[in-house]
Amino acid sequence: MTGSTTHEFSGAHKHQQQPTDRRPLVISGPSGVGKGTLYNRLFAAHPDTFTLSVSHTTRAPRAGEEHGTHYFFVPMAEFEELIAKDGFVEHAKFGSNRYGTSKKTIEEQTAKGRVVVLDIEMEGVKQIKASGINARYVFIKPPSFEALEQRLRGRGTETEEAVGKRLAQAKVELEYADTPGVHDIQIVNDDLDKAYKELEDYVYKS
Ligand code: ADP
Ligand code: 5GP
Repeated sequence: MTGSTTHEFSGAHKHQQQPTDRRPLVISGPSGVGKGTLYNRLFAAHPDTFTLSVSHTTRAPRAGEEHGTHYFFVPMAEFEELIAKDGFVEHAKFGSNRYGTSKKTIEEQTAKGRVVVLDIEMEGVKQIKASGINARYVFIKPPSFEALEQRLRGRGTETEEAVGKRLAQAKVELEYADTPGVHDIQIVNDDLDKAYKELEDYVYKS
């Protein structure tokens, strides 16, 4: 990577640009790598262009997280009922909790005519691939395992036990990402501005 790059889409007209490729964007990467930070910046820079696929989860909300915006926070029984009704496009267990993308959410978000963004872990990525949904796959990598651990702890949202589980899972996610062809692009989130530009360029220029 070079330090200075010109960006066709920077400047006053940026928000009026639309990605030519309208396929859903599946963003994955280890917990704490900066996925949310990156796509929230994309949403802020390009209003009315993207829409987040709001997942269902059995985990408790973090401070500031709202039901229906960040997640649909549901009890385990409700989550299992949705599985039984075949209500999920994909779902997985992560740490001690379950997460899933409901068919209803995907239908509603797709109907908005915006580019749908999914933030999901590895097993969900595999299921989306198997489902036949035509998507673009973005993997966000940490500059090092140590940096990932620092970010995850620095965020201050997890118990020590959850940090341990998330770091163990991070190793598995990073190994999977080494499989050739599973992701369309891998972005190292070292310098945030640089990583963001790579994401924006990929979304708009490819
Ligand atoms: P994820 O959504 O992948 O779990 P977050 O977006 O919540 O990760 O980011 C985890 C933490 O790392 C947050 O505290 C965020 O501010 C921080 N962070 C994100 N990107 C960077 C970066 N490039 N350099 C340093 N810290 C970062
Ligand atoms: P967090 O608890 O940090 O919000 O998310 C933990 C992990 O669950 C992250 O890797 C995130 O991408 C993943 N995740 C969030 N929603 C879903 C989902 O609907 N399906 C799957 N498979 N993973 C999800």
